[in-house]
Amino acid sequence: MPQRPLTRVALTFDDGPNPGCTDALLDLLAELGARATFCVVASSISRPGGAALLSRIVAEGHALANHSSDFEDLGELPPDEIRRRIVACDDAIRAVVPDARVSWFRAPNGSWGVDARVARVARELGLAPLPLGNVIHDWRDDWQDPDRLARNLRGALQPDAIVLAHDGGGRRFGTVAACERVLPELVGTWEFVTPEGLPPEATALHIQDETPPLSPQRR
Ligand SMILES: [Zn+2]
Repeated sequence: MPQRPLTRVALTFDDGPNPGCTDALLDLLAELGARATFCVVASSISRPGGAALLSRIVAEGHALANHSSDFEDLGELPPDEIRRRIVACDDAIRAVVPDARVSWFRAPNGSWGVDARVARVARELGLAPLPLGNVIHDWRDDWQDPDRLARNLRGALQPDAIVLAHDGGGRRFGTVAACERVLPELVGTWEFVTPEGLPPEATALHIQDETPPLSPQRR
């Protein structure tokens, strides 16, 4: 009997690395044989345990995306300052995993700037802008109810979608619990790819779709 093609989805985790969450997600992904993309922030890499987790992400075959130096919106900043912050993240990545391939940049809070200047600067630096995709509303410490996040995650998992969850930026135990509950159900019918594995329209940046940005994140 011919095998049914697997449904593709790109899981992305923002704001880490974050000890306690990133490692639990890496354990789960390894168990499932799944790949994900970790959109890392320089300030998270420099926190205790961050560098070791960054190495582990790369060693276990996951993809990295640049997510700026910290959590601040770049949309209103002058291009030179935007560039400085993206380069600062790249430097932080390179200091730990010099040979890791980084092809995407995701703007903090999905804020690309009114004239898409953030996307333009990223492209000038050789990074493709990565859309937010389907969010699961997990970027606040008081939104960590596993039942709610499991429901949100099931809703966000659409064919050829980018799914945005958070491993950093605060305590994300609800995100981890939701992933542990939902992702095993998909093994055998879904394939977890990096954004390159999705059709081009799935990763095209529609600036209007990205505005208004996510509410400001809390550390
Ligand atoms: Zn973020």
